Amino acid sequence: MRDERLLSVAVPRELGGEGAGISDVVDICYALGRSCASAAMVYAMHQTKIACLVRHSRAGGWHQHLLRRLCREQLLLASSTTEGQKGGDVRNSSAPIVRNGTDIALERQATVISYGEAADGIVTTARRSAEAASTDQVLVVFLKPDYVLERLAGWDALGMRGTCSEDFKLVASGSSEQILPVSYEEIHTQTMVPVAHLAWSGAWAGIAASAVDRARAFVRKAAHRAGGTLPPAASHLTRADASLRILRGLIVTALDRFESIAIDPAALVSVEFQTSMNLLKVNASEVAVSTVMSAMQTCGLAGYRNDSEFSVGRHFRDILSSPIMISNDRILSNIATASVVNGVPRSLRD
Ligand SMILES: Cc1cc2nc3c(=O)[nH]c(=O)nc-3n(C[C@H](O)[C@H](O)[C@H](O)COP(=O)(O)OP(=O)(O)OC[C@H]3O[C@@H](n4cnc5c(N)ncnc54)[C@H](O)[C@@H]3O)c2cc1C
Repeated sequence: MRDERLLSVAVPRELGGEGAGISDVVDICYALGRSCASAAMVYAMHQTKIACLVRHSRAGGWHQHLLRRLCREQLLLASSTTEGQKGGDVRNSSAPIVRNGTDIALERQATVISYGEAADGIVTTARRSAEAASTDQVLVVFLKPDYVLERLAGWDALGMRGTCSEDFKLVASGSSEQILPVSYEEIHTQTMVPVAHLAWSGAWAGIAASAVDRARAFVRKAAHRAGGTLPPAASHLTRADASLRILRGLIVTALDRFESIAIDPAALVSVEFQTSMNLLKVNASEVAVSTVMSAMQTCGLAGYRNDSEFSVGRHFRDILSSPIMISNDRILSNIATASVVNGVPRSLRD
């Protein structure tokens, strides 16, 4: 990624990047996901942080200098939102920013920081101050010389093993200019949720597509052996193909919607848009899992085995992270009120 300058594609040209839009970024996540799920997820998380910096930094400020440097040096940014025992409760932080003049310090039980040790910097949520409510959060960037990571647990997981999502205590210090100039609430709704959910979905679609590729290769080989007669499991391939189409459709529809209102903050924070972006995550993860399952059913034992050219075991282990990466249950219960309040649209295109 560094060799191809992929880490800075979404930085505006005037800051040294390529000015790529969200569709390009999500497509790269998809392409990476077809080869390596963890690489795609690392890229998706890094790009979500970049999107926050690009959209919410101040012209000529500390973060824009960082973006210039990131383009030159192809720096990799990690993300810290999960904290303590609160799981994926992103909109609450425990650890506060402690201020001493313009100096700041943060000590955080960061339960999971993917590629924490490999990253050049960490973008973390924090409580604005010791007096602030847990929902009064800021987003702050610390670079490697600013922090120490005390490793609390490793990452021996079922799948997504390459994300190296280890547990750390993060002890950081820096200057107040490293805090993004707007509240995390604003960043969360306008950028973090839509970009994270789109980029993650792109990565999951890539994993699903790769599994469908294997299933197709299996059916072709079986048909070749049988003199052109399709095996009975070909109907599972059709089902896998159908659900991959649904998955791609979900992502493209959400991308179009986000791009059409990207410069309209009022539309971005609307309940309707936030609900659609949250449901994108839930739906994309569920459809991705069922796509990989259909690919597995197509290949049968050859898909189940780890030692076969048609194995989809790794795809399956990787994709099972998607419903729990910010639990679908949590998201569904968070937006339950919106589902009660919102009516059913009067027309299909509403
Ligand atoms: C591959 C991977 C990489 C990750 N990388 C990072 C990273 O770099 N940085 C980071 O900060 N975090 C990262 N995370 C963590 C992620 O963002 C979530 O915080 C985490 O997956 C949630 O963990 P949990 O299931 O223990 O927590 P919880 O969200 O607390 O869920 C625990 C259980 O409670 C249930 N539950 C929770 N809320 C409700 C509810 N309201 N109603 C009903 N049931 C509910 C869930 O279904 C689940 O079974 C990563 C996760 C994965 C899988």
